[in-house]
Amino acid sequence: MMNPHLRINKLTKRFAETVVLSDFTLDVGRGEVVSLIGPSGSGKSTLLRCISQIEHADSGFVMLDGELLGLTMSNGRLKAAGREKVRNQRAEVGMVFQNFELFPHMTVLQNIIEAPVHVRKISLFSAQEQARNLLDRVGLENKEHSYPAELSGGQKQRVAIARALAMQPKVILFDEPTSALDPELVGEVLSVIKGLSNSGITLVVATHEISFAREISDTVAFLDGGILIEHGPPEIVINNPSNPRTQEFLSRILPI
Ligand code: ADP
Ligand code: MG
Repeated sequence: MMNPHLRINKLTKRFAETVVLSDFTLDVGRGEVVSLIGPSGSGKSTLLRCISQIEHADSGFVMLDGELLGLTMSNGRLKAAGREKVRNQRAEVGMVFQNFELFPHMTVLQNIIEAPVHVRKISLFSAQEQARNLLDRVGLENKEHSYPAELSGGQKQRVAIARALAMQPKVILFDEPTSALDPELVGEVLSVIKGLSNSGITLVVATHEISFAREISDTVAFLDGGILIEHGPPEIVINNPSNPRTQEFLSRILPI
């Protein structure tokens, strides 16, 4: 790809002896929606955590909008970037977790404005105004004063999505955003993500919802054992995969 929005280049990540990501390379275009599918333990979360700088890869790099994340080039070598730079870069990458990770002691509105006010330094007034617009967008206009414990899982996840959007990130990473939800609440979260998929934001979505992935994705990446096995349009990777490992995985999880 000529100028990918997100470039994942030869990432390798080990935990002790275990290689969790192996020489992992993937380019994502601006506004592209890419789904990560693959068995449990295949490295999806670790990949997202390396992109968002929660984890540090052992080798390789990630570039967003042409900028190295978490690293600087010095005398022809890559070294860790300074804390300030890393903090600013983290603000450009939104992350939505399986278990929502809302701040339990804060209201919905406080959850959403926290980072814009404290990291982006925008005024309280405009942060609140923006937060209310985002709550409208995720269908939670009358929940601003609620606490997370008062919400259903689907509502919590929609707050988490609004919170990610409030930072106006360049890319949003979703780590199995519906895996912790009761089945009847999955649809409301998927429909919010589907709305974002048409909005021009670059999205990387780890998911087990294969029919959803097929519907919203520009491309689908199948991982197994920390390796990118197959990557391409959903019509190929999901409907007509060429790799036997992809075929075997899909045959286990897709209804016949
Ligand atoms: P997935 O999200 O696809 O289920 P993960 O990225 O969570 O996969 O995990 C990939 C592999 O890395 C698994 O074998 C997991 O046990 C291992 N792993 C993940 N995080 C850690 C960690 N912090 N310490 C040790 N091993 C880990
Ligand atoms: Mg995971």
